[in-house]
Amino acid sequence: MKKPRTYQTEAIIIKKIKLGEADRILTFYTPYLGKIRGVAKSVRRLKSKLAGHLELLTHSHVSLARGRNLDTVIGSQTINSFLQLKNDFELTSYALYIIELVNQFTPDGNENYPLYQLLLDSLHQLSQASNRELLLHYFELHLLDQVGYRPQLQQCTYCHTNLKPASNAFSPITGGVVCPDCYSRQPLSYPLSVDILKVLRFIQNNDYPLANRLKINHDLSRKIHNIMSGYLRYLLEKELKSVAWLDKIRKQKEGATTGII
Ligand SMILES: [Zn+2]
Repeated sequence: MKKPRTYQTEAIIIKKIKLGEADRILTFYTPYLGKIRGVAKSVRRLKSKLAGHLELLTHSHVSLARGRNLDTVIGSQTINSFLQLKNDFELTSYALYIIELVNQFTPDGNENYPLYQLLLDSLHQLSQASNRELLLHYFELHLLDQVGYRPQLQQCTYCHTNLKPASNAFSPITGGVVCPDCYSRQPLSYPLSVDILKVLRFIQNNDYPLANRLKINHDLSRKIHNIMSGYLRYLLEKELKSVAWLDKIRKQKEGATTGII
């Protein structure tokens, strides 16, 4: 049966690029179609009625018409514009990091409902999160789970023995933890204290309300950040654009406060 010419979907706008004089190509993450793209015609013109419903980070109902190469956005109705995220520079940076990760780790047209839900929940939680770094780590670990790169935190990824409470290490190349005996065979590893391993396991194995109860001091949070960003950089073979902004904000905060995040 021929597919209908137009279709509707709920979507979160995760990327936009300029096209020609007044158009944009938008990337949407959707619950049942995965990542899709569409051209929004004339949205860069002042009088565009669609433009406000097609901003980055907006949760919308969109209508598209199938095209030979790219589909065309023919309608959009905002469900949630996430204004709180857009009105705060720091929150915007965290949110842009989240959507960039989703864009980088997903192929086009591959349905992944749990990942859609994780993305939507995380954008909702971000403005209320008492510990934004913890929320990011939660998002990173659960995203990796959904896209097939769940870090192995129970057994040594080299010799497969169960990990002991000792000085283990995290090895991006093997996708998880290596035991002290195998550490020397994986020189590009990050030292992993018993505390960090416990925190990573707890975040990986629980939902956000429970993970959010963790109290993590600044030092531990920074070490987890180093490990996660090292692993993500290894998997993507590049640095994300939003990372530079986030690191700048982190440094500013470090300068402003010496206490616990
Ligand atoms: Zn081992």
